[in-house]
Amino acid sequence: MERSEIVVDRGAIRRNAARLREAAAPAELWAVVKADGYGHGALEAARAALEAGASGLCVATAREGEDLRAAFREQRILVMSPLAPGEEAVAREARLEAALSTPEVPAGLGVHLKVDTGMGRWGMTLDEALAVPRDRVVGVMSHLATADGDAAFVRTQVERFAAVTGALPGVQAHLANSAGTLRFPEARFDAVRCGVALYGLSPFGDDPAGHGLEPALSWRSRVALVKALAPGESTGYGRRFVAKQPTRVGIVPVGYADGFRRGLTGTEVLVAGNRRRVLGTVSMDSFAVELGDEPPGAPVTLVGDGVLAEDHARVLGTINYEITCGINRHPARAVGRVVDG
Ligand SMILES: *Cc1c(COP(=O)(O)O)cnc(C)c1O
Repeated sequence: MERSEIVVDRGAIRRNAARLREAAAPAELWAVVKADGYGHGALEAARAALEAGASGLCVATAREGEDLRAAFREQRILVMSPLAPGEEAVAREARLEAALSTPEVPAGLGVHLKVDTGMGRWGMTLDEALAVPRDRVVGVMSHLATADGDAAFVRTQVERFAAVTGALPGVQAHLANSAGTLRFPEARFDAVRCGVALYGLSPFGDDPAGHGLEPALSWRSRVALVKALAPGESTGYGRRFVAKQPTRVGIVPVGYADGFRRGLTGTEVLVAGNRRRVLGTVSMDSFAVELGDEPPGAPVTLVGDGVLAEDHARVLGTINYEITCGINRHPARAVGRVVDG
């Protein structure tokens, strides 16, 4: 048995994409598959989203776009972050579209004018955008800073963006991420760029089911060794868990090098279907879990089967995005499998 197995359900991605299309209509759905599809595998995620009617793909880097181009010959692929020096040739060769944060247009590329309406990150001013020759402009975009929170600021950004699109009639306009798509109909414009929700993760950090979303990734391992701790004995670095009474613990061969973060002490996983706490310090290659009477070899679900990335994120004080992006899919550490459920 491999150390752990990462299973991605294409059916779940298709259903999430259908849900997002419905929320976005009549705007188009573009699938954001940067960072290897938020840790799910960019190619499979893109394929499933396109099958469900997504009409474009978005990535963060030209190399990510190049990888997708090999599989999707005709699909629109947008690189949302500025091209790094030397990436223009890659983008041209792969026929990618590029988001511009300055008015200099790279030769031979269709470009999206990225206007900063309040994110305060990438993007140019409206005046700069209007200075760009229109012949290679295929889109105008901006990005929401608070779609998972401050609604008043979303409305400010929508108003600013509406002014931008008004000054660029006939140019395809896109603003909303997953949270914006699900929560703000007025943010939809001509297309929406959805990432996190496509994977069945909640952009609001709560239970995805409440938004009609279904987690697509499961991560499972096994109790590789059972230990019986006598009172006073401990497990793991720093002796952070010391048994007060006779305690059975299971050692699971997954650690922070696999993406099961070191701060996950106390989070819950499933052992043979029972919710059990992670005990002591998570090591690089293993962690310990409390056991009832589960035997050696008992299946352990780290994510999936009702254990949510959102649950682990809460323990870590981070967001679900960081949980799945951090899972190490290298074949030397885990086995990847795709199912169609
Ligand atoms: C990552 C990203 C998105 C997708 O955001 P989600 O919250 O995952 O839906 C959309 N637009 C831009 C510019 C991004 O960088």
